[in-house]
Amino acid sequence: MKGAIIAVGREILTGKTLDTNSHWLAGELTAMGVWLKRICAVDDVLEEITGEISYAFSLGIDLLITTGGLGPTRDDMTLQAWAQALGRDLELHPRALEMVEEKYRTLHTRGYVTTPHITPEREKMARMPEGALPLPNSVGAAPGMFLEEEGRVCVALPGVPGEMKAIFLEEVVPRLSRLLEKKGNGRVLLQETVRSGFRDESLLWPLVRQVMDEEEGVYLKTLATRFGPDVDLEVRVEAWGEDETQARRRLERAVERLKEVLQGARGA
Ligand code: AMP
Ligand code: MG
Repeated sequence: MKGAIIAVGREILTGKTLDTNSHWLAGELTAMGVWLKRICAVDDVLEEITGEISYAFSLGIDLLITTGGLGPTRDDMTLQAWAQALGRDLELHPRALEMVEEKYRTLHTRGYVTTPHITPEREKMARMPEGALPLPNSVGAAPGMFLEEEGRVCVALPGVPGEMKAIFLEEVVPRLSRLLEKKGNGRVLLQETVRSGFRDESLLWPLVRQVMDEEEGVYLKTLATRFGPDVDLEVRVEAWGEDETQARRRLERAVERLKEVLQGARGA
């Protein structure tokens, strides 16, 4: 399953907010067996969000996750963008409205908000593309969204990291695990870092490339740092497979071969 993340929010583009949501999601998705192909950040502009969603699908993405833009303000437009990109109407979702109503009732009982009533701003958070499944938000007010269309999985999560993580772990992971099991196109990715004994990346690279060309299902990356007499550059070896056994076998072979090649070159 090929995945992509779109982080929605002006604050990311102006350097106010570091996009930790994508970083966290990338780790979680990779560990689940999703092959993440793209991460991008986009402004709070309807056409631009819609355009990024459509572009991700044009790349053959099976799982697209947006974070941000689900709140009560005018610049929270992600669900409208989803509706546009999917060619569906944006409509008031009864279950999502119940979630929002219930949340504000609880917040009011606790004295966190002054009124429990549904205002147009609160109601806005329950407007979703036709056919969407609202995901309960155990931390904040805005529900997330889950929608499957023609085998593609569409997910919208809030921008606040605590809310994003809660909905992902509580609501998205169980659904995604089932889909990955059913589709059987998950991929296990394993990694190991090897010290090269080299301090010059330009001399190290031809050896690393040789191993990458020889071995199947692996990707090797030299990790550049700086120049200096005390430098010992590392090489990260990634191996993937349809299951853990295949990935492990590939990783072990590639690491062993890399050590052999490096030792040969150092000895020469
Ligand atoms: P939003 O849901 O778009 O209104 O975002 C609410 C808040 O969440 C923002 O003001 C940021 O502080 C934070 N936030 C939004 N997007 C991200 C992100 N990609 N990574 C980390 N924090 C974010
Ligand atoms: Mg925002």
